[in-house]
Amino acid sequence: MSQPLNIAIAGAGIGGLAAAALLAGKGHRVSVYDQFEAAGPVGSGLMLQETGLAVLAELGLRAAAEALGAPIARLWGVSADTGRAVLDVRYGALREGLRGIGIQRAALFRLLEGAAAASGASVVASTRITAANPATGMLVRQDGGAHGPFDLVIDALGVRSVLSSAPAKALPYGALWATLPWPEGGPFDPEALEQRYEAARKMAGVMPSGCAHPGAPQSLTYFWSIRDDGYDAFRSAPLLHWKDAARALWPETARLVEQIQDHDQLTFARYRHRTHWPAAEGRLIHIGDSWHAASPQLGQGANMALLDAFALARAVEAGGEAAEIAALYVRQRAAHVRLYQLMTWAFTPVYQSDSRLLPWIRDWLAAPVSKLWPAPPLMAALVSGALGSPLAKLGLKAGR
Ligand SMILES: Cc1cc2nc3c(=O)[nH]c(=O)nc-3n(C[C@H](O)[C@H](O)[C@H](O)COP(=O)(O)OP(=O)(O)OC[C@H]3O[C@@H](n4cnc5c(N)ncnc54)[C@H](O)[C@@H]3O)c2cc1C
Repeated sequence: MSQPLNIAIAGAGIGGLAAAALLAGKGHRVSVYDQFEAAGPVGSGLMLQETGLAVLAELGLRAAAEALGAPIARLWGVSADTGRAVLDVRYGALREGLRGIGIQRAALFRLLEGAAAASGASVVASTRITAANPATGMLVRQDGGAHGPFDLVIDALGVRSVLSSAPAKALPYGALWATLPWPEGGPFDPEALEQRYEAARKMAGVMPSGCAHPGAPQSLTYFWSIRDDGYDAFRSAPLLHWKDAARALWPETARLVEQIQDHDQLTFARYRHRTHWPAAEGRLIHIGDSWHAASPQLGQGANMALLDAFALARAVEAGGEAAEIAALYVRQRAAHVRLYQLMTWAFTPVYQSDSRLLPWIRDWLAAPVSKLWPAPPLMAALVSGALGSPLAKLGLKAGR
């Protein structure tokens, strides 16, 4: 193994905790700093793909994530304008038995946090980071205090990272979301992420998201697409206005919509698109959303953060100075990051935008073509993260 390094990780989110578990597991001294008061994430359910699951397998967490999550075999979107299925991606078209996993963010967080603690990383809460010095490896807190010097400083601060210089471009549409109990007896397919669209201006989604802890009831995450500049109007209007729109778009969600009694039950997530080049400078290395943020339309962000963490740990293991570690890390990840940033940038407006043309092409040209070979396995490869997959390059195995 390489010499034990003194490593700081800014941000105890998905990428930061995975990197902490992997690096501390190899004997490095790892300190993770986060602004939260006590460890506990907030956020919507998310989808783990084969890429992220392969990293969780390396951490010994795959079986637990699969047990807590809900298997997703199909992405199924219907146009409310025409009643036609305009998105129908079946994971099995790529490989028999292939599935994504819908999981509550809190459940994934607890698994990663447990792994980080078990491998000896220390997580320091209530620490808001404001700056890092790439040359000296120092981290600066909001109160002016500093930590370090560190051999490596990993920026895992997510989409709003203060250590990432490239401005994150806010996308015109974000989403309101809520985690709700799974309605037994239907009407939703327990193995599908379902969506309904009206052009690309309206979209609602239902994703099975498993349970918070073993034995807890099954849940789903409900999404409602909303323009960034329409959020204030949503907040100030009676909730009934939104409820009427939601029921009109997708009448089968009436039982879900009924459970929303207050605007606060719907959390607003703003989406941003950003790729920060270079991904490393001196001792400072960016992983996850601080390197490449995108809308969650293709459900890849958490999986990309897990892959980054794994690639970085592998590069550290190969040894060398910070510059060599960073170069190997970037070589392992850059092509996959570029591909998925491009794909997400291209696909997002097809489902969330004011365009009339894109949803028309989606409904009348792309949907019929997507049923013809080789589109089904290609679409499955795209959503499972297998397109341009870095798994072989990283020495990771797909499947159980
Ligand atoms: C509504 C929604 C749905 C999504 N669905 C999916 C999905 O289905 N599949 C998928 O793969 N991805 C999904 N994503 C994207 C995914 O959540 C992100 O890509 C992923 O969380 C990025 O991980 P990260 O480690 O880079 O950052 P994060 O997980 O965001 O962690 C960042 C951490 O840094 C901390 N932090 C931030 N600033 C500071 C500071 N200044 N000082 C100290 N600490 C700080 C935060 O408290 C947080 O703990 C979704 C995102 C959203 C918003």
